[in-house]
Amino acid sequence: MRRSGSISSVCSSASEEDTMQIFVKTVSGTSTIPLTIPSTTTISTLSTLLALRHNLPETDLRLVHAGTHLSTPSATLDSLHIPSNATLHMALPLRGGMPPKKIRCSFKLCKDAAQRIVGDCGFCSGHFCGKHRLLEDHKCEGLEDCKKESHERNAERLNSERTVAIKGV
Ligand SMILES: [Zn+2]
Ligand SMILES: [Zn+2]
Repeated sequence: MRRSGSISSVCSSASEEDTMQIFVKTVSGTSTIPLTIPSTTTISTLSTLLALRHNLPETDLRLVHAGTHLSTPSATLDSLHIPSNATLHMALPLRGGMPPKKIRCSFKLCKDAAQRIVGDCGFCSGHFCGKHRLLEDHKCEGLEDCKKESHERNAERLNSERTVAIKGV
């Protein structure tokens, strides 16, 4: 059995080892990386390799083959029956591919989607939509504490807390 030589120019390393060529589409889908690797390469090795190349956080990198997430880090290309010249896709959870789970507004009856980052409340650790993201608007549990103190005293407290935090580092 001969491995296909139709894409021969990319890499012609000796084929004594059981290597195979695969192609990996980048997250943006604009370029394809040819890789010649042993068929015993694990998914975790492969994603480490790709993460390093692209300065991506390794933990965020997902590999997809034929619409299936390769989610077993210890599985080898061989064991996953990924054929030579297969194209894998790099995917990041936050961009493209599978959309992240929508977070709903934490406010009682609200069914809106929570806003990312700006909708997070640091006082009650809730996630809120645009209408409820202000402390007053979601009747924040942390608000009670805030109200007890005047704005000045609150600022003072924040300052001293910050100093403590710095000292504590
Ligand atoms: Zn809401
Ligand atoms: Zn809150």
